[in-house]
Amino acid sequence: MIVPSQARCLASVLTILLIGCSTQPAPQQATKTEGQNTPKKPQELKYGIDVQPGPMDSILLKDYAPASSLVVPETKVPKPKYPAIDVHTHSYMSNVKAAEDVDRWLKVMDEVGLEKSVVFTGATGPEFDRQAELFAKYPQRFQVWCSIDTKDIDAPDYPQRAAAEIERCYRKGARGIGELSDKGFGLGGSEKKALPRDKRLHIDDPRLDLVWKKIAELKIPANIHIADHPSCWKPLGPNQERTPDFQHFNMTGKDVPSYEELLASRDRLVAKHPATTFIFCHLSNQGNDTATLAKFLDAHKNVYLDFSARDYELGRQPRTARKFMDKYKDRLMFGTDMGSEAHMYQGWWRLLETGDEFIPGRQWWRYYGLELPASTLEAVYRGTALKVLAR
Ligand SMILES: [Zn+2]
Repeated sequence: MIVPSQARCLASVLTILLIGCSTQPAPQQATKTEGQNTPKKPQELKYGIDVQPGPMDSILLKDYAPASSLVVPETKVPKPKYPAIDVHTHSYMSNVKAAEDVDRWLKVMDEVGLEKSVVFTGATGPEFDRQAELFAKYPQRFQVWCSIDTKDIDAPDYPQRAAAEIERCYRKGARGIGELSDKGFGLGGSEKKALPRDKRLHIDDPRLDLVWKKIAELKIPANIHIADHPSCWKPLGPNQERTPDFQHFNMTGKDVPSYEELLASRDRLVAKHPATTFIFCHLSNQGNDTATLAKFLDAHKNVYLDFSARDYELGRQPRTARKFMDKYKDRLMFGTDMGSEAHMYQGWWRLLETGDEFIPGRQWWRYYGLELPASTLEAVYRGTALKVLAR
């Protein structure tokens, strides 16, 4: 015989069993602290512990910011061991609009031991001339670079026009061209104003041959951003490598060539123009694989790299990065690409010079100081740049 209270009990057991069969694993008995309506997930063994549900299950990845209890030395490095040259900055990132903005930037450079900044104006024409004039007050401290004309690239006179504008900018003070970016949409292209695939101006396009010849003749280098971090070609989801803050750089599902195809265009370009000096920024977006990157450097003597904005590549592999940097120090240059605040520069000195551990950075992973030897520091801070940069 079943009494009413037993009947209710049986009914709920049946309900649980039915739900369990039809949709998901049967919830186990709720604990007191979880409350009646919070079903407990089945026990799971992971990392040698039995994983239990709790408040951490509802934390969003983008909000996850663990506070470290690790007690290890934290070294302050106010200035670099050698006066440094930053080969990768943008006037817009430092909010340079007027002469006083240049003065403000120079003050920070003095404070942090930076001898010179290469400034990408991102401009040609009158806008380049205007910016060149702003920086002309300090010719030893700032070197301005121009961009490239990407208007009417199908016009028959485009190659001559683009090359002539670079020569004009050179006379106005430009000592390099860049940063020229091709993340797949071609130079001057973007997702919003994308040309059809076969119309885009990729770096190995014959329409640019005259430009590469012109800069070789002027003895000035080009700084090129090719492709992007390889994680951009991997889907956004639980296995995405970089933090959610970088998700807008993602390329999956967009109408762009693959990462590999873009790097192949780079290889064709540098082989076709051996007399032109190319600097590929951000470790040519191959800082995740320095062995392959080394082969690229070995194959092309006209190629240099800046390691701007790749603090998180170097810092996550301190031993491998140090070996690579020691070996290729004469091909590598310091650059930032992250504005011009004192603490940013000083973060770089700490990463490159100290053996500090578990340094907070810009990705979910932390960095480890590289403790670069003096000869490598001298080369990457200034020696290589003095050799590569035009006067
Ligand atoms: Zn940049």
